Amino acid sequence: MGNQPLIVLSEESQRTSGKDAQSMNVQAGKAVAESVRTTLGPKGMDKMLVDSTGNVVVTNDGVTLLSEMDIDHPAADMIVEVAETQEDEVGDGTTSAVVIAGELLSQAEDLLDQDIHATTLAQGYRQAAEEATEALEEIAIDVEEDDDEVLEQIAATAMTGKGAESSRDLLAGLVVEAVQSVADDGEVDTDNIKVEKVVGGSIENSELVEGVIVDKERVSENMPYFAEDANVAIVDGDLEIKETEIDAEVNVTDPDQLEQFLEQEERQLREMVDKIADAGADVVFVDGGIDDMAQHYLAQEGIIAVRRVKSSDQSQLARATGARPVSNVDDLSEDDLGFAGSVAQKEIAGDQRIFVEDVDDAKAVTLILRGGTEHVIDEVDRAIEDSLGVVRTTLEDGKVLAGGGAPEVNLSLALRDYADSVGGREQLAVEAFADALEVIPRTLAENAGLDPIDSLVELRADHDAGDSAAGLDAYTGDTIDMDAEGVYEPLRVKTQAIESATEAAVMLLRIDDVIAAGDLAVSDDDDDEDMPAGGPGGMGGGMGGMGGGMGGMM
Ligand code: ADP
Ligand code: MG
Repeated sequence: MGNQPLIVLSEESQRTSGKDAQSMNVQAGKAVAESVRTTLGPKGMDKMLVDSTGNVVVTNDGVTLLSEMDIDHPAADMIVEVAETQEDEVGDGTTSAVVIAGELLSQAEDLLDQDIHATTLAQGYRQAAEEATEALEEIAIDVEEDDDEVLEQIAATAMTGKGAESSRDLLAGLVVEAVQSVADDGEVDTDNIKVEKVVGGSIENSELVEGVIVDKERVSENMPYFAEDANVAIVDGDLEIKETEIDAEVNVTDPDQLEQFLEQEERQLREMVDKIADAGADVVFVDGGIDDMAQHYLAQEGIIAVRRVKSSDQSQLARATGARPVSNVDDLSEDDLGFAGSVAQKEIAGDQRIFVEDVDDAKAVTLILRGGTEHVIDEVDRAIEDSLGVVRTTLEDGKVLAGGGAPEVNLSLALRDYADSVGGREQLAVEAFADALEVIPRTLAENAGLDPIDSLVELRADHDAGDSAAGLDAYTGDTIDMDAEGVYEPLRVKTQAIESATEAAVMLLRIDDVIAAGDLAVSDDDDDEDMPAGGPGGMGGGMGGMGGGMGGMM
């Protein structure tokens, strides 16, 4: 072979190896964390994202920010996944998870510079994460599922600092009521909670309806406005005569024939409606269209019909009323019908909607969110989603932690103690992990315009003195007892954040070779182009390392 390098990669592929690869990944991860950092906590700021078509999203929510930002780097994507996992598992704590992941990488960078091997680091980080989870369980507070006061405080904590904050108490009450009404033996399926966004009015006008609201009107003016003690049918098809698939030509030789043809169609439609009426339905929700003639017959029968109902609404209606959807009206029988005490078309903020209430199986509720503008409601909706997630998690697990940075300071101290027992080079990694967790209280302080060092020193002192719930009051800058203040987060929000942040950081640190088929997304020429406001500065700068690394390709 001599000195000839063996070329196994195609010319277009790019390769970054060793320290360059590590440094590139660390920079990318840090850049992602940096881009959401300022949104953390009660005093976190919002970001405005504008996509290439001019759509605007104003948000404070970590996972929304990251998914709306046009992030296109393999390592950065892995950090974005941390937020997505957090969102799926608990629904809150997405910013915290990403910020911790970024700080773990940042701390690792220093240790890598001191020639500590990445595997040692990974080992230490894993040990620390495990120890942290155990330590958190020890300080967790038990919550009973009917403890409305604490549940509302949990719901309110998740909304702090978001668009929903102004009506936090009202919304927290609605969220708790919603989750409790769909809870079934400690299991909560938030799919049974529908959030209906209504532009108009103020957030204060938001309310909870036991049942389902369908954003449609009855199909004909001649149908009744409401039905009491209604039997509900759900049809997963159309109430129309199928047009022939092939271009059939019907040769009509005399007017009688045409009449016959139309009569036959009418008869078929009449039969469909008869089927529905005979089954005893008062209301029918149809997935597809309803022929004009069928509408006429239905109105004659005094049946309320709604067409083009979204399939998600159909399944919610089925769950709530107990109706069994049929795809063909011919198969409809009494047994397929569901029940609702009241089905009515009502006006809300100038829009007509169908309210299906007093359902048999009240395991479905609708939260009507009101707000002045669409952007406002969208952001309130995101806060509500977080809030629903934390209340659900609390009902499922029954364990919460006091917030405001208290758990992180607590862990940081516990891990430093633990580090002494670890020994070896892993000890340094455990200590780095302990330092990294403090990024949460530090950032809470920074975002509140406080001096992070002063705040941390005070927090540490309180925790040293045994107050495991001491956290940072972002409004006054004081260190207060978060337990007494009623700032709570589910235990799982913290354990999940620490677990996924650790996994992602460890995975990135163990990479010493990045081989990309074709251009790596963030190359020198398209650095800034499709990055929306918020991320670009940090990202563009962070990616610089890559260009250098490319030189060694073969
Ligand atoms: P995340 O996406 O991580 O949930 P948030 O912006 O919701 O980000 O901020 C969550 C952090 O804010 C948590 O550390 C939580 O304890 C803290 N926090 C929430 N409410 C308060 C409060 N009233 N006082 C102090 N800290 C709070
Ligand atoms: Mg939150």
